[in-house]
Amino acid sequence: MMKMTELQQKITAALPAVKILNWEPLSRHTSFHIGGAAEVMAFPKTPDELAALLRFAGEENVKYAILGAGTNVLAPDEGLSGLIICLKDCLDGMEQLDGDRIRVFAGVTMTRAAVYAAGLGLGGMEFAHGIPGTVGGGVYMNAGAYGGEIVQICESVDVMQPDGSILTYSCSDMDFSYRHSRLEEEPGIVVSAVFKLTPKPEDEIRAMMRELMNKRKASQPLELPSAGSAFKRPVGGFAAALIDQAGLKGFQVGGAAVSEKHAGFAVNLGGATAADVLSLLEQVSDKVFAFSGIRLEPEIRLWKP
Ligand SMILES: Cc1cc2nc3c(=O)[nH]c(=O)nc-3n(C[C@H](O)[C@H](O)[C@H](O)COP(=O)(O)OP(=O)(O)OC[C@H]3O[C@@H](n4cnc5c(N)ncnc54)[C@H](O)[C@@H]3O)c2cc1C
Repeated sequence: MMKMTELQQKITAALPAVKILNWEPLSRHTSFHIGGAAEVMAFPKTPDELAALLRFAGEENVKYAILGAGTNVLAPDEGLSGLIICLKDCLDGMEQLDGDRIRVFAGVTMTRAAVYAAGLGLGGMEFAHGIPGTVGGGVYMNAGAYGGEIVQICESVDVMQPDGSILTYSCSDMDFSYRHSRLEEEPGIVVSAVFKLTPKPEDEIRAMMRELMNKRKASQPLELPSAGSAFKRPVGGFAAALIDQAGLKGFQVGGAAVSEKHAGFAVNLGGATAADVLSLLEQVSDKVFAFSGIRLEPEIRLWKP
């Protein structure tokens, strides 16, 4: 067994109530199934546990990163030193506030939240059913699909600051735009969000969710590990169409490839490394640029070791 690092010893002693895993493979927590070991991975169950972790990190000068469901992240092969705070299924819980508003905690998946809303006869989250990330990850990057986006339903967001305090931001405070929120530029962790929805018959909501899920299954390579759309939508075009027109469907680097089914997805054919995916994304971006003059930028968050 590997000797415990100073951080691993200190955090276990300081926060005995918080679930901590040392040298946990990031590949177990990312939809790409890629990534080396995290020095410390913590799973806070409550906002208080999350605040305690942040205060510990501040006092000990430990760098940390937040992981939701890991469906938009490429984690490095070398793994990560420091602390990874994993929120999926940890900061859990949903409640109906009044009438057409619900509060959802950050670790709940978007699909679970959409199903919960449907059960209350509240529409507006149909687009989110099938996005495999958490509500925290979805708010962080204003996730969207089929014409819907978080910004359309978000009333407010509780954001934990590095000192453990919580600020409530209104939707306009969040500075949402295409796959962006203010949290990309400043520290802050989504603890929960209030969504304002619209009363709608449950069977209509469920029919719409089924229709959108069938569209996903028909067009996306859901049978292979990926992190969703690899590139942002460029101004004046669609990434998948440009990649397809450049003849890159099936283009492969090591175990990583451009999906044959949907050119916008980079997939792990088996045994792909982060280095394979990075090289694939770079080469695709260069080839599309040479072909069209349009530069594709990654939508996937590329975590550095
Ligand atoms: C098959 C497939 C289909 C997809 N389809 C879509 C789609 O239709 N539309 C779409 O928008 N996306 C789609 N995605 C991408 C992904 O699901 C979304 O981006 C999702 O919002 C990411 O959430 P996550 O919890 O997995 O975040 P992660 O991948 O874990 O993290 C992404 C970023 O968010 C940050 N983050 C996560 N949680 C928090 C938090 N609580 N507070 C602050 N920061 C946080 C992380 O630090 C990281 O920088 C798809 C992915 C896959 C694999």
